[in-house]
Amino acid sequence: MKRVLALVLATALSSAASAAVDPRTVPTKLDPAWQAKTRAVFKQAIEIPSVHHRGQTQRVAELLASQFRAAGIPDADIHFMPYEGLPGDKTTALIVRWRSAHPTKKPMLILGHMDVVEAKREDWKLDPFVFREQDGYFYGRGTSDMKNGDVATTMAAVKLMSEGFKPDRDIIFFYSGDEETNGQGATLGSTKWRNLTDAEFGLNADGGCVSYDRNFRPLGCGISMAEKTFQTYFFTTHNPGGHSSRPRPDNAIYDLADALEKLRTYRFQPMQNDVSRAYFEERSRQEGDSQLGQQIRAWLANPNDGAAADAIEANPLEVGLTRTRCVATMLSGGHADNALPQSATATFFRRSSPRCAKA
Ligand SMILES: [Zn+2]
Repeated sequence: MKRVLALVLATALSSAASAAVDPRTVPTKLDPAWQAKTRAVFKQAIEIPSVHHRGQTQRVAELLASQFRAAGIPDADIHFMPYEGLPGDKTTALIVRWRSAHPTKKPMLILGHMDVVEAKREDWKLDPFVFREQDGYFYGRGTSDMKNGDVATTMAAVKLMSEGFKPDRDIIFFYSGDEETNGQGATLGSTKWRNLTDAEFGLNADGGCVSYDRNFRPLGCGISMAEKTFQTYFFTTHNPGGHSSRPRPDNAIYDLADALEKLRTYRFQPMQNDVSRAYFEERSRQEGDSQLGQQIRAWLANPNDGAAADAIEANPLEVGLTRTRCVATMLSGGHADNALPQSATATFFRRSSPRCAKA
C-alpha cells in the first residue's frame, strides 16, 4: 500500500470510556454462515503468495472470479487481463462487471490490488503465507494490505446479489496485479482497458477505512485525499580495489557507509499542505492535551519548526506525514571474500507528496 495522507473525519465522540455507544454506529455482524464463507475465501487468498516473480497472482484472480461466477455473473463479464508488471514478471488483473438491468447512471468502479509485497519466511515469526487468527487478530501477508479489501468488496457484492439487490448502475470491480511494484495495471486500467473500466467515479478499497476501538466505538474514517509519490535512487561508490591483505585507506564499502550515515540523519524541511493541515488539525483535537496533541499544535503554529515535526514523527503512526522522507532499502557490494571491493551500491527510496516535494 502506498502511504497516504488521510483526512480523519470528526467523530465528535467523547473520549470518556463510559460514553454511551450509539447502536447505529456498531458495525453489523454477519450471520455465522456468511462469516464462515467470507473467512474461508480470506484464508485461501492469504495463502496464495501473490508476490512479484512467483507467478501466483492469477490464482487470486481465479479465487475472486469464482465467487462472482457462483453468484451469477456470466463469464462474458469476467475478464482476466494478463500483463507484464515488472519486466519479465507476468501478472494478472481481474475486471468484473455487475450489470444493472436498468442503469440510470454511469458505472461505479471498485478498486483493489491482489499482489502483496514479498515476505521471507525467515524474517517472520510465523509463516507469512499461512492464515492464522489469534487473540482477535488475523495474521498473514495481505491481511491488511489488501486481501482484506479484495475479499470484503467481492463478498459484499456476492451477498448483495444473493439478497436480490438490483444496482441502478453497473458496478465494476478492478483488481490489479502489480500495485506493490510497478503499478502497470493501474496505467493499463486507465488507458488500454478503459472500455472495461470507464466509470463515473472510483472507490479504492486500499485507500482508507473506518477504525473502531475494541468496543466497536468509531474512532474516525480515513479518506485518501492525496498520495505520496515515490522515486528510487542509488548511491554507488567505486574504488580501484586490490588484495584484502593490503587494505587501502579508501574503500568502496566504507565510503558507501559514510554516505548512508549522512542519509540516515538527513531531514527534509517539513511542509504543510491543505490535506496535511486538515489531518493534523483533527488529530490535535482527538489527542487533546496529550504530549502528541501539544506537539501537533506547536507544528501547526509554526510549519518551519523542524523539531516539532520530528517530535510528531517519533510516533510510529505519524511517520512520514510532515515531510518528504527517504530511507535505505537494499544494499550490495564487493565481489569476493578476499578482495577489496571495487564497488558498492545502496538503494534508497524517497516518498514525497506533490505539494510537499523538495529535492
Ligand atoms: Zn495496498
